[in-house]
Amino acid sequence: MATTVVGGRVLPVGKIVAVGRNYADHAREMGAEPPEEPILFFKPSTALLSEPAELALPSFSREIHHEVEMVLRVGLGGARLSAAEAALAIDGVAVGLDLTARDLQTAAKVKGHPWAVAKGFDGSAPLGNWSPVSDVGDLGNLSLGLRVDGTWRQKGNTRDMIHGVVALVRFISSRFTLEAGDLIFTGTPSGVGPLLPGQPVRAELGTRSVLDCHVGGPSTDASGKGAPHG
Ligand code: MG
Repeated sequence: MATTVVGGRVLPVGKIVAVGRNYADHAREMGAEPPEEPILFFKPSTALLSEPAELALPSFSREIHHEVEMVLRVGLGGARLSAAEAALAIDGVAVGLDLTARDLQTAAKVKGHPWAVAKGFDGSAPLGNWSPVSDVGDLGNLSLGLRVDGTWRQKGNTRDMIHGVVALVRFISSRFTLEAGDLIFTGTPSGVGPLLPGQPVRAELGTRSVLDCHVGGPSTDASGKGAPHG
């Protein structure tokens, strides 16, 4: 079971709420207009990898994209939080990747099907180290970036989020009761793209959270036959 430490207590990770198209430049690169209301989806807790050395690519996709994101951990939950309550709800932040099977997601969009597999497969939510929110400063002004093979692929700042932290927490809590141990992936800036086996990956959020790993080979499916990537 995936767990996280909130206020000294070890809690199971609850739901993982993720926000789509929360940076205008990424919305546009996906051919979409920036949304007026947050676009939400879920990743299961089994998607989490805490500070992994290796990212495993699933055998059923040929196009796994990186999306570097600021991840929030809920310390004080509730439903229909006020702005003041939302400002106190988050106890930790980390850099994370919302790994996406873009080929499956594109096919699902065309058919009007859910994104569950494209966004929620095992290992699709690798995280860097957690940092207490009190150590980080302004969550609305943090640099966010990702390098692959030592080259910057994504560079952004959380000030460019369409819906900021308080607005997101308020909106999410108006639809789903938030509980301590829930996580929120807050969206990615532009520059998303494919990961290939063997590539080193480094993601950073400000100076407080880092994810340093490399891309492993494709995992094998139940029949033992993994599909090649490339
Ligand atoms: Mg994302």
